[in-house]
Amino acid sequence: MESAREALKRVFGYESFRAPQDQIIDALMTGRDCFVLMPTGAGKSICFQIPAIIRPGVAIVVSPLISLMKDQVDGLRQNGVEAACYNSSLTSQEARQVLSDLGSGKLKLLYVSPERLMMSEFQERLLTLDISFFAIDEAHCVSQWGHDFRPEYVQLGSLRSKFEGIPFIGLTATADKVTREDVLLRLKLKNPAIFVSGFDRPNIRYTVVEKSQPLSQLDAFVQARSGDSGIVYCLSRKRVDAITEYLQKKGISAAAYHAGYDATERSRVQEGFQKDEIQVVVATVAFGMGIDKPNVRYVVHYDLPKNMEGYYQETGRAGRDGLPSEALLLFGAGDIMSARRLIELGDNPTQKAVELKKLNAMVEYAEAQVCRRRVILSYFGEYRIGACDNCDICLEAPEEFDATDDVKLALMAVYELKQRFGMGYVVDILRGSKSARILDAYHDGLAAYGTGKHRPLDDWMSILRQLVQKGLLIQDAENYGILKLTPETRPILRDGVRVSLAVPRVKVQQEKPATKGKAKKGKKGKKEATYEDNSLFQKLRTLRRQIADREQVPAYIICGDETLRQLADKRPKNRTDLLKISGIGETKANKYGSELLAAIKDELG
Ligand code: ADP
Ligand code: ZN
Repeated sequence: MESAREALKRVFGYESFRAPQDQIIDALMTGRDCFVLMPTGAGKSICFQIPAIIRPGVAIVVSPLISLMKDQVDGLRQNGVEAACYNSSLTSQEARQVLSDLGSGKLKLLYVSPERLMMSEFQERLLTLDISFFAIDEAHCVSQWGHDFRPEYVQLGSLRSKFEGIPFIGLTATADKVTREDVLLRLKLKNPAIFVSGFDRPNIRYTVVEKSQPLSQLDAFVQARSGDSGIVYCLSRKRVDAITEYLQKKGISAAAYHAGYDATERSRVQEGFQKDEIQVVVATVAFGMGIDKPNVRYVVHYDLPKNMEGYYQETGRAGRDGLPSEALLLFGAGDIMSARRLIELGDNPTQKAVELKKLNAMVEYAEAQVCRRRVILSYFGEYRIGACDNCDICLEAPEEFDATDDVKLALMAVYELKQRFGMGYVVDILRGSKSARILDAYHDGLAAYGTGKHRPLDDWMSILRQLVQKGLLIQDAENYGILKLTPETRPILRDGVRVSLAVPRVKVQQEKPATKGKAKKGKKGKKEATYEDNSLFQKLRTLRRQIADREQVPAYIICGDETLRQLADKRPKNRTDLLKISGIGETKANKYGSELLAAIKDELG
């Protein structure tokens, strides 16, 4: 049998495994169940693709999205691997062909939707076949605690006992501790080997800016990065359209993407972006799953995302190539209310409670006055010591003001309300609201009532949230989020100790991370500039596009930028040299080798 390393070189043209790919592959090859948690772009697919290629039989890969399946199958086929999809997008003739290839033992990997996999007829068929293993991609979808729960994933747990003796591997890029344990439980993995890699994406700079005239903020940010690819996420379709129009009027090559557009328009935008013909895509979260564009330089969240999982996954679409990239979040207190209202529309109470909790964590992140990366990583159960030097807080310490008088007013209001009300109510009391709820409770007679009229609602929300972060107030999540005083408040209320809080921030960064002194420049960052005017690189890029058009796949399926760079640097003269280039395996050398070599020869004269 071919070794894993040999297959990696022969099929994918890669020299070596990245840790811990090799350990995962070893575990799966010995027939163990595995659970893999690795950040986006770290290379999860290889972990099951290599064993699928070298083990006898066919690997069944469960994937939630048709576009994801198609991407992976296209990529595998380009590398000469027999792979297919089995899902609702196939015509009945195509489906018959797939089943026939499956039956004849031709396929090494079959990507299947959970709906199809759970059909008993299909399972009967599988039971008669030689199956190498089952891989459950995006495994967090099985958990109700995850952010992307899919009911059709739940039944996957029943497979484990039905396919006794066949290993299972679950993979995900995003799962907090609770979700992780739940995934293991639900998939019923047996004594699994567990691999949890670090979550950090050090090349992404995290920034949160207080939302204030957000269109101008966005415009300033995008203009300062003209020529770079970026994604702008917002919560509603209407807003996507409005922002796109605004950016277009400002002369920016922007396009809109959301589920309201038909498939043709959506793929036009996706392809245009993929090919760098569209600079900015403004989108709802519908855009992204299955997007593997390596050179996205920034991701802007125009609205507050619903949870940290989604946020981190979306920001993670920036900088897959490892070059300096940015994640900007525009954060307004009003967004919290809108997000909450959206959640309240749901009809499953358990789900609602989970979603509200996740939203609160998101708000805490946006409000935090400590290293962003630390907050993100600790959310995912990873602890880092020290500052990251690549987030807004680390790069520029927050400005503070003496908030003692306001803090006292807030604490007194909480005290007078007998520590039985949430943030919104406390703020309403401070601001002297005439809401029916307040009047009915005769709370307009409290001493604290109306004492905070000098500050707008947003300020008070920010002050209260900062007090929670500082441990002066407890927000009881189990109990409607009511605010309670902690013993730490005593020195302020009794002993005249003063408190400082952070001033809100509204200015966006004009400078890109690569040009800022503190961020690590790295030699890749410098290389970037030279490739843009390297004529061989440009020529190879054009050739890649021509091949991609001919093959009807995105350019990155033909090869990545790193491969183009190596071709431009090393200028292979023959097939042997060509096979030394990362990303060129035997199939690609056979298929495109002569074209690539001819282009290089031609350029060198
Ligand atoms: P994930 O699914 O974890 O987001 P992918 O499997 O899409 O990541 O891999 C990200 C990129 O890294 C892909 O372009 C892939 O081909 C590349 N890659 C993965 N493993 C290796 C390796 N060992 N050497 C070089 N490139 C790799
Ligand atoms: Zn930091």
